[in-house]
Amino acid sequence: MDDVWKVLAGNLAAVALIVSIWTHLSYRFYQLPPKLRCAGLGVTMGLAAIASMLLSVRFDVGVIFDLRLAIIESAAVFGGPGAALITAIMAAGFRLYLGGAGVAPGLTAIALVFVLGSSLWFFAGRKPLSNAPSILSAAVLAGCLSIAVLALLPAAEFQRAVDQVGLPIVVLNFATTAAIGFFLAYFRRFTLERDILYAALTQAPDYHYVKDLKHRFVVANLNVARHNGRMRSSEMVGLTDHDLAPKERAEQLMAVEADVMRTGQALDHFEEFLIEEGKPPRWYSTSKVPLRSRQGDMVGLAGVTVDITEKKLLEQELRSSRNVMAQAMAEMSDGLAMFGPDGRIVFCNEQYRELFPKSAYARKEGAHITEIVRAAVRNGERQDLPIDLDEDNIQAAGQTLFINKDEVIPLTDGRWLSLRTRVTEDQHVLAIVSDITAMKEAELSLKSFAERMKGLAETDALTGLANRRSFDEALLQEFEKAKKTGQPLAVLLIDVDRFKAYNDRYGHLAGDECLKAVAGAIAAAARRSGDIAARFGGEEFAVLLPNTDCESAVAIADKMRTCIRELCIPHEGSEYGFVTASLGATVFTRESAVNNAAELVGRADLGLYQAKDAGRDRVGLQRLDDERARKSARPR
Ligand code: GH3
Ligand code: MG
Ligand code: MG
Repeated sequence: MDDVWKVLAGNLAAVALIVSIWTHLSYRFYQLPPKLRCAGLGVTMGLAAIASMLLSVRFDVGVIFDLRLAIIESAAVFGGPGAALITAIMAAGFRLYLGGAGVAPGLTAIALVFVLGSSLWFFAGRKPLSNAPSILSAAVLAGCLSIAVLALLPAAEFQRAVDQVGLPIVVLNFATTAAIGFFLAYFRRFTLERDILYAALTQAPDYHYVKDLKHRFVVANLNVARHNGRMRSSEMVGLTDHDLAPKERAEQLMAVEADVMRTGQALDHFEEFLIEEGKPPRWYSTSKVPLRSRQGDMVGLAGVTVDITEKKLLEQELRSSRNVMAQAMAEMSDGLAMFGPDGRIVFCNEQYRELFPKSAYARKEGAHITEIVRAAVRNGERQDLPIDLDEDNIQAAGQTLFINKDEVIPLTDGRWLSLRTRVTEDQHVLAIVSDITAMKEAELSLKSFAERMKGLAETDALTGLANRRSFDEALLQEFEKAKKTGQPLAVLLIDVDRFKAYNDRYGHLAGDECLKAVAGAIAAAARRSGDIAARFGGEEFAVLLPNTDCESAVAIADKMRTCIRELCIPHEGSEYGFVTASLGATVFTRESAVNNAAELVGRADLGLYQAKDAGRDRVGLQRLDDERARKSARPR
């Protein structure tokens, strides 16, 4: 009985050996197509089955027991029906060759296990069983099958076979299937990991390689191989830099690597500009790290070299465009400052500082906008920021940095600056400052010139009073206002008496002087704001007195008359011996039967006519309800 166990255990050992040889062979020939690998497994298992039959337990003449069922089933569930078929054919052939009484049940068992194993393969989704439960299930099936096929023996021998070999046959078929299954699954996983690592290393971008202590390539990826004119990574194995580069360069590389391996210090991102024969010059960055065994002994180094030419070119481009920018900024006439999102100056040119001399010390890279505003305030640099501005307002002024705006800043030294602030998409702020003093001064002088021109257009050159044109405009406005508000509007007309005679006697120039004096007297009497005194034409004047009733109008008119008389300008041609004037007055109210401003002046003229008529040097009031006066109006 012990012999059965021993023989079958030896049987298992032989199977294990053959399967182990297969795994090593299959790893070596990993590039084989899947069908060939499958056939390989089938042949291996076939050989294992033959070995098993050679080492079988002889039960009776021509009747043998071995582990072939477990082997055929393993070929089916771990390699597929193709592999199993090859195994089954080999096993069946050999069983036939051995011959004997057990041939028929033996072949039947082989066919049966082939069918069952293949079914299991399809049942598992046409892929090798690989997890523990499925492998163990297959093993249990093998155990069960091995006992079941004993039933194929003649009935008389069945019981004896069960008694003598039943247990070892079941146990060892189970063990064989489990062993083959776990071994193949483990090896498949191991191969996969290695393949992934190898693929990662050989197919990685950049240049990856591992060298041994003698500077020989152990592994190099495809990029390294191609860079050195090789087609495959494997062609690099065993080569040194002496085989690949000129002597000087190879020695230089080896010296660096020797240093890494001697000191244990990695070479970290060492940048080189290389001009290699027949290739365009390029930049590389190389890192090399020492490699140690599990025991800590130095075994070589791993290196990675990255082509950084594009990066370097970009850097150069960036640097040169920065230089161009810096030069442009330095030479532009405007001041320029760039603030970051934190409100601090990222960069600014010299002109920016020069435009703000009192706070220039604060306008430097890294300075915060509030520090700059504070410096400008404390040094009284800007007219729009009072020197006693409190901290809250300084902070608030700083906050306005992040708003797009165009400002004109008056400085206390008399200059004007234009400040354009633009916020960029990434929350930077670009401030451009220009000195616009000349422009601003030109603008101001233009403004004052325009005002002067306007004054001249509205003023009578001789007397300095408003001229007729501006009187007419004012009259229209005041007339409309009076109609709207209901306030009375008085109009006075003043005419110098016997002025022709004055001119004739004293000359025209003296006449002009006389008119100036009379104008001064009129203006002095109409001093209220809103009163308008104008030269109406020749020696005639007109006065508008808004919000003035009849009594007041007469009083003011009489005051004017007195003032003119009191000028005491001698006039021998006058019946009074001095220059006098006659005045016509009228007052418009809402009740007045007057339709327009011209009519109002006409009424004042009537008053003047009355005064002349009555002997001159007096005031003639023309009430607007006085119909008799209207009828006797003289034409003008
Ligand atoms: P009356 O008392 O009726 O008003 O007599 P008058 O001589 O003042 O009136 P008239 O209209 O006959 O004369 C006006 C004179 O005023 C005629 C003109 O030579 C003179 N005159 C008008 N404008 C000026 C001026 O700008 N300068 C001078 N010197 N004389 C002027
Ligand atoms: Mg006149
Ligand atoms: Mg006159």
